Amino acid sequence: MTRLGIFPVSYKVRGKKIVIVGGGAEALAKARLAVKTDAEVIVVARKIETDFSNLEVTVSEEIFNASHLENAALVFVGDEGPDADIAKRLTKEAGLPLNVVDQPEYCDFFTPAIVDRAPISVAISSEGEAPVLARLVRAKIEAALPLHLGKLAGLAGKLRNTVETLISSGDRRRKFYQELLTSSKVEKALAEGKDDQANQWANHLLVDHANVDRRTGFVHLVGAGPGAEDLLTLRAQRVLQSADVIVHDQLVPEAVVQMGRRDAERVAVGKAKGRHSFTQKRINQMLVELAQQGKQVVRLKSGDPMIFGRAAEEIEALKAANIEYAIVPGVTAAAAAASDAQLPVTLRNVASGVVYATAHGADDTAVKHWSVLAQSGLTLGIYMGKSIISEVARELVAEGLAATTPVGIVVNAGRANSARCLSNLNDISENPPSLADGPAIVFVGEAVASGAWLQEAADEQKNLNGEAQSSQQVA
Ligand code: SAH
Repeated sequence: MTRLGIFPVSYKVRGKKIVIVGGGAEALAKARLAVKTDAEVIVVARKIETDFSNLEVTVSEEIFNASHLENAALVFVGDEGPDADIAKRLTKEAGLPLNVVDQPEYCDFFTPAIVDRAPISVAISSEGEAPVLARLVRAKIEAALPLHLGKLAGLAGKLRNTVETLISSGDRRRKFYQELLTSSKVEKALAEGKDDQANQWANHLLVDHANVDRRTGFVHLVGAGPGAEDLLTLRAQRVLQSADVIVHDQLVPEAVVQMGRRDAERVAVGKAKGRHSFTQKRINQMLVELAQQGKQVVRLKSGDPMIFGRAAEEIEALKAANIEYAIVPGVTAAAAAASDAQLPVTLRNVASGVVYATAHGADDTAVKHWSVLAQSGLTLGIYMGKSIISEVARELVAEGLAATTPVGIVVNAGRANSARCLSNLNDISENPPSLADGPAIVFVGEAVASGAWLQEAADEQKNLNGEAQSSQQVA
């Protein structure tokens, strides 16, 4: 592989000098390049033999000395002679980048062939090996780039601050620029020299985009985890910090809701069991309306939004209203519960999988999956089963699970007041335990026995970890 012997960079010269040494044809050629920039260009030679008068350069007909290098960015040595030798030496001493025509061994840099559409520039370099080829490439690029490209870039540059104020989302800003830079109307106006017209088109376009930005907000469906502030993902936290409105379930503890931006509006849509203060339809509608007001909305759901979270209905409503949304996963209750109980829900030779299932059907109808679950041989993690735990146990036994199958219950999983107990299907169906207040996960299956269910033992472990927390005792 051929590697480059040079590294192409764009070198800043604004506010500095470009110094050209020599008064002949070579110096003139470099001066022509240098005046493409807005650096101050000075030409120094004890004898000026060429006419520089139609270039914006300062010509000083004197012997080269160190003062000529003050505030210089680049130095070109054009024509051979005594000045050239002094300049080479002084430039090297000053540590400034030097280019000497036809003497590559003295050069710190080479001048590429340049296609100039300021502020866009294309530099083509052949490391001095094939200048003809470089010029050919330049000609092709010249032909490919419209002459007004620079004006277009200038137009975009001028609008920058306004765009920042009017369009809040970076994505939408990019969309605006892309449209501006490819707009045939703007291009045509610039090509015809109608710069004012082009400006007007650009402003129309900007207003359009700004309106869209204001009109549609964004909805994040965010998993809040089981209720501990430090079981939120970093992404969830970041999204909460940028929310205008946080629409949260009752199950999400206040401390987590408070993690949002301080001045965010907060709406509790309370869907705790038995207290449906908002219907799902009303919640869907609210999300759509808030987003249509241009707000950054966080729909904060306990655990993971995609597990028993009615996310499907909300997503459907957002899609129908053409509102952008994204989903941020969370630690689901059963995962937190398994950790609390130190229960590997999958266990070699015992349980080859785990099923998360609900105890209730939609609208509290009976579910039909007990037979399949009883026959599955998998660990069951049952959500929403606390209040009908005896019925669930009886169903599972009726569908063929052994009455001795272990049952583990974790209340307030992942929280400081997490509590748990171990039982079996028979005991639970005949003699349901009294459980602490709070949501619960019910695990059923042979693997359950391998958890750490003794509350005291687990508390001791917590103490050892320096995380002493008051745990509520489960009967
Ligand atoms: N999307 C949530 C589940 C919502 S359904 C998730 O992924 O976790 C509500 C049910 O979740 C409750 O009835 C209960 O069974 C369970 N649950 C939620 N938080 C819990 C917690 N901290 N501890 C135990 N169970 C919890």
